[in-house]
Amino acid sequence: MLADAFARPIEYLRVSVTDKCNLRCIYCMPEHGLEWLSNDDILTYEEIARIVDAAASLGVRTIRLTGGEPLLRPHLELLVAMIARIPGIEDIALSTNGLLLEGHIEALAGAGLRRVNISLDTLRPERFEEIARRPGLDRVLRAINAAISLKLTPVKINCVVMRGRNDDEVEAFAQLSQRLPVAVRFIEAMPVLEYAHAQREEYVSADELFARLKRIGGLRPVEGPSGNGPARYFTFPGAAGTIGVITPLSHEYCSRCNRIRLTADGRLRLCLFGDYHADLRTPLRGGASRARLAEIIERSMLIKPERHHLRLGEPASRMRALSEIGG
Ligand code: SAM
Ligand code: SF4
Repeated sequence: MLADAFARPIEYLRVSVTDKCNLRCIYCMPEHGLEWLSNDDILTYEEIARIVDAAASLGVRTIRLTGGEPLLRPHLELLVAMIARIPGIEDIALSTNGLLLEGHIEALAGAGLRRVNISLDTLRPERFEEIARRPGLDRVLRAINAAISLKLTPVKINCVVMRGRNDDEVEAFAQLSQRLPVAVRFIEAMPVLEYAHAQREEYVSADELFARLKRIGGLRPVEGPSGNGPARYFTFPGAAGTIGVITPLSHEYCSRCNRIRLTADGRLRLCLFGDYHADLRTPLRGGASRARLAEIIERSMLIKPERHHLRLGEPASRMRALSEIGG
């Protein structure tokens, strides 16, 4: 079993398949995008599968495909199928903004995708356009229904809560969790790039969120849906779904961190923030064997930090965006 220097078992690999995105969420990407990676820089599906194979040989069991927007990569189902065939991999999940999901979901499920997380910060179309800087709410809602119909459950809905932008919809999202079999997860906004400054003013603490949810009445803690998420879950009487809060800024999850990340350009990132990484692309393209890749992954455990060092309103240094690291 792969473990880091703090004896945390590492069994979860998040794979960013692209740095590009068809949205420009204010907390994630600048309006005009980033300096995108070139196609040559980005790992091919075969290269990703070789790294997953090496990681699986060390005990990694769960893979989550993310980005940027992973569905911008053509035929993502081919990658899902390749990963599904790797011995040891038990679970393949996808994080998506949902815009392109409806048209691809059957092929993805057929290839072995088991679960989806869909980002959704608002239920109001005009507000969606303000936050994501592109339209598309109707497509996201259709994607959520398609995921429920195909039983890619638990369908998790990730909602970044920001004061003055969408915090007045906490109750509407609570109602969504009553109506649909989904796990709504409120996420603390992290101070990334241009958003770092606004984050200080727009921060809504988990305590405040819980207080507001409790006011709706009947909220009780439940065992969360499976799937390696660092959230605490609750439900309302008779509700079809659950509701949870993820607080990445507090450190309570660092001690239970079981994950590593592969960037679209082949770096293994050991922590969500900070520049702790190991280059896998150079050895991979230099012909490294599975055993050699596994050795590099195993050694990189020594630089996985005990915790991140991010604080409210302080911009994350030396990183471009969550999109690059595959938030
Ligand atoms: N594009 C896909 C999506 O939006 O789900 C996958 C990549 S996105 C970077 C993964 C998750 O990171 C999304 O749920 C998004 O809301 C979250 N995220 C991005 N920037 C964030 C920030 N500054 N604070 C908190 N969560 C953030
Ligand atoms: Fe794109 Fe996801 Fe970032 Fe929004 S959060 S800009 S959808 S990568």
